[in-house]
Amino acid sequence: MARRTLIAGNWKMNGLGADGVALAKDVAAGAPAGVELLVCPPATLVARIAAAVAGSAVAVGGQDCHGKASGAHTGDISAEMLADAGAHYVILGHSERRTDHGETDAAVRAKTEAAWRAGLNAIVCIGETLAERDAGRTLSVLEAQLTGSVPSDASADRLVIAYEPVWAIGTGKTPTLDEVDAAHRHIRAVLGRLVSGADAVRILYGGSMKPSNAAELLAIADVDGGLIGGASLKAADFLAIAAAARS
Ligand code: PEP
Repeated sequence: MARRTLIAGNWKMNGLGADGVALAKDVAAGAPAGVELLVCPPATLVARIAAAVAGSAVAVGGQDCHGKASGAHTGDISAEMLADAGAHYVILGHSERRTDHGETDAAVRAKTEAAWRAGLNAIVCIGETLAERDAGRTLSVLEAQLTGSVPSDASADRLVIAYEPVWAIGTGKTPTLDEVDAAHRHIRAVLGRLVSGADAVRILYGGSMKPSNAAELLAIADVDGGLIGGASLKAADFLAIAAAARS
């Protein structure tokens, strides 16, 4: 089935007001037709950037949310707050959250349910470490993370999966095209058992995607877009990746 390509930028903990707004506006000004573009700035900038790109082809997302809608959770942000600020997506279970904040699959599942409760699209991140890959466990790790992180009553229309090998994030290293293909096929097969209408779920590749390797990665059948960290901080690079998605 035809799935609309999604090119998503994860700005991580980068961006102050003026530069962030300028970057988002540059992305909006150069957005190619036929590709869905998303920028996920730090939470402090979601509302400003949502206002800055309103009416353009660029959507805005958060990088995390709490499982609860409100309450005594100092420093946390709810999915409802992100939606209220103008977000339409939220990244969940990024490996940096899993490592820095001890997020488990169960926590990611609760956050995914929270995202849907608030009307957001959830981008659920999974990926193996280098030790797990070297031990030949990549596909079983992905299966376990998917099974633990995706709610049992998941529906396809608000779910995006990002396959991000932990060892490829920010390192300049990427799996071979055959390895990406195998991982995405496996994710699609596991989703088929977990989610009704799994064919509609987009599976993004993330991990050192850049203009020079985007076309070959995005040409893989079950790669429906990219989650981009470093290269999303320069409009020209992010837009070049988006353009590669169309070629
Ligand atoms: C990420 O952190 O989601 C990511 C893919 O980072 P990078 O593109 O910098 O590897």
